[in-house]
Amino acid sequence: MGTGSNALYHLSRSIKMPNVPIRIFNIASTQVDREEVRKWLDFIGAEGYEIPEDGAVTNPALLIALAGRRCYKSFVPGLNPNVTKIRKDMADYIDNILASGHGSVLEHSVYTFAIENVSRVFTGEMNRHRAGWAISEGSMRYIRFTDIDWWMPTSLQDSPDDSVELRLRKQQSRDIFTAAFKMQSQAYSSLLEVWDIPEGHHDFHYKKVVTSCLRRIVGMGVATGGIWTGNIRAIRHVITMRADSAAEEEIFYVFSNILKMMAEKEPMLFGDFKQNESGSWVPEYRKV
Ligand SMILES: Cc1cc2nc3c(=O)[nH]c(=O)nc-3n(C[C@H](O)[C@H](O)[C@H](O)COP(=O)(O)OP(=O)(O)OC[C@H]3O[C@@H](n4cnc5c(N)ncnc54)[C@H](O)[C@@H]3O)c2cc1C
Repeated sequence: MGTGSNALYHLSRSIKMPNVPIRIFNIASTQVDREEVRKWLDFIGAEGYEIPEDGAVTNPALLIALAGRRCYKSFVPGLNPNVTKIRKDMADYIDNILASGHGSVLEHSVYTFAIENVSRVFTGEMNRHRAGWAISEGSMRYIRFTDIDWWMPTSLQDSPDDSVELRLRKQQSRDIFTAAFKMQSQAYSSLLEVWDIPEGHHDFHYKKVVTSCLRRIVGMGVATGGIWTGNIRAIRHVITMRADSAAEEEIFYVFSNILKMMAEKEPMLFGDFKQNESGSWVPEYRKV
């Protein structure tokens, strides 16, 4: 990386432009209608099965267990004459699903995340995961930027172990990033002036055509966001691939945080992930 001779570096010294933090919001998850479940269980002859109380097990884990038990009718011993013993403990039951790789039942339950201030570096990688995900990504065509916000990569943030030289390189890089994003913002504003969208302009088609064209000058580091809904099997798969220390730093940051969130909310479904010495989150049950 060059030093003080870089024009962007010099430009950056007069600029103060905040970057933005990545935020992850778990905005929805599967809910079970216990009354309807009771009617269904009675209908199939499983009157003896006690639905775990609300609070004893999460809704997503309960739905997965119900779907799993429906396969062999293993709600109570004898309901299926082939089944004489059942795992009563919910944690044991779910653990056995994971251990034996009966992962298809995990697909019944979903979690929805609103993820904000991630870049198109993140979304480009994230959206390659097609199986088991629903995606709504922030538009660049219809959204008109005011500022070009961005997330500071983990690798450019200071760390207490940094040498003096590394600290300097990081500082210079941050300055250049700041200047580069500022230049994008300025160029975007200038283009908006050229194409003159006055305050209160109502021609939506015209505005769309303009912002659709102008997005080409916005770099892939721009802070954007969207909504991602994944089923539990898909979320486990993406955590396994992307909360790995070899993954790109932004998707690693997002998915190691999603794992922490999920391990707290769904210990039965995500409690087998452990962090190893290299920083990767590794599941005990890799292929479910
Ligand atoms: C380190 C790294 C570097 C990468 N570099 C590039 C790159 O340079 N260019 C690039 O284009 N991509 C790249 N990728 C993306 C990668 O190739 C995958 O497309 C992406 O990670 C999605 O993962 P997945 O295939 O497991 O799909 P997911 O949609 O997450 O699917 C999960 C699993 O379901 C099964 N599955 C999904 N879809 C199908 C299907 N259609 N048919 C059969 N089985 C299916 C597979 O077992 C798959 O593993 C990279 C990924 C990593 C981790």
